[in-house]
Amino acid sequence: MNNNTNITIPAHSRGGVEIFTAAEFDMVMREIAPTDARCIGVQKGEYVWVIPVLGVGADTIGVFVRSSIRADGASAEAGADSIRAWLGHIPDGEPYAPKVLGRWTTRRKGWQIRLRRVVKELVLLARHIRPCPTCGMWMKLRAPGGSGSSAGTRPYLYCDAVGSGMLDFTDDGVELVIPGLPCGTTLPIPEVSGPNTA
Ligand SMILES: [Zn+2]
Repeated sequence: MNNNTNITIPAHSRGGVEIFTAAEFDMVMREIAPTDARCIGVQKGEYVWVIPVLGVGADTIGVFVRSSIRADGASAEAGADSIRAWLGHIPDGEPYAPKVLGRWTTRRKGWQIRLRRVVKELVLLARHIRPCPTCGMWMKLRAPGGSGSSAGTRPYLYCDAVGSGMLDFTDDGVELVIPGLPCGTTLPIPEVSGPNTA
């Protein structure tokens, strides 16, 4: 019998790193996002899944998940290869948010639960993306800023639209739009972590 009656995922592990197939991974993704998750095939040598989240201008962005599953249909044997998730443009996966907001999930026991948490966090984060209140362009996500302890600890929205909203004032108090400079408007994002976060 070769059907889906066996829901034990994955079939085996090696050195604590769990090995799974594309079909098994698909079941996990559909459990995380039943109606939205879809495999978009092999990109750069690994099967990739995507969950569309939000229309941003002419684009749709979503959560991309690189499974570590090779083109031959089985996940990599090497423990160094984690499952990666990030926010990107559909369909090519070009990042919409900086890498630092991406997430790595090791393929050790319980990876399905950790991956679910990661995907949900990214979905919630993406849902905060909105047009800039100053200039109307779509804002970008930014990681918590700087290395100082006084820098923010939460991702936030930032508008880098150039020449569309940056205002200054002349000595006489007249508004000037300065071409070539980013709008620079920022917006905070409320806490998006799950209830299990202290
Ligand atoms: Zn703006």
